[in-house]
Amino acid sequence: MSQTSQSYDDSNIFAKIIQGDIPCHKVYEDDMTVAFMDIMPQAKGHVLIVPKQQAVDLSQLEPEYASAVLMTAQKVMQAQRQVLSREGIVQMQLNGSEAGQTVFHYHVHLIPSSIHELGRHGSSQADQEELATLAAQFKEAIDTAR
Ligand code: 5GP
Repeated sequence: MSQTSQSYDDSNIFAKIIQGDIPCHKVYEDDMTVAFMDIMPQAKGHVLIVPKQQAVDLSQLEPEYASAVLMTAQKVMQAQRQVLSREGIVQMQLNGSEAGQTVFHYHVHLIPSSIHELGRHGSSQADQEELATLAAQFKEAIDTAR
């Protein structure tokens, strides 16, 4: 497997969110993953799924965490479909700054949108109240599906 040359910097923003050092609008959490609202969404309901493993990108992700991220992504996507009443969800994941990655802790984006309509990446801050409401709705949908 090819590896990124970039070493993991544990002061990145998602490491701080995992540690609970900075706040987020959390949608779901288990022993291996956390899912929360993207603060600069590319579409309404944009969620990030982050493994609790120190990996810069896909090349460093351990298989058990890859599996855990996808299991969480399935829960979140089901909640997005239910709450937003739309089927189309873009799953995106960027590897390296050349690809547009800006936070160097592996993460999967789940964006209720279409590849033909995707807005610009991380460009403007969402309304915090709207993020809190969506996070609560997604969380409830996940909890009731269990
Ligand atoms: P990347 O460009 O690395 O694939 O995606 C990073 C994502 O993290 C962007 O969509 C950006 O909006 C989001 N983001 C950056 N800083 C924060 C933050 O402090 N909190 C949250 N919730 N999302 C963030």
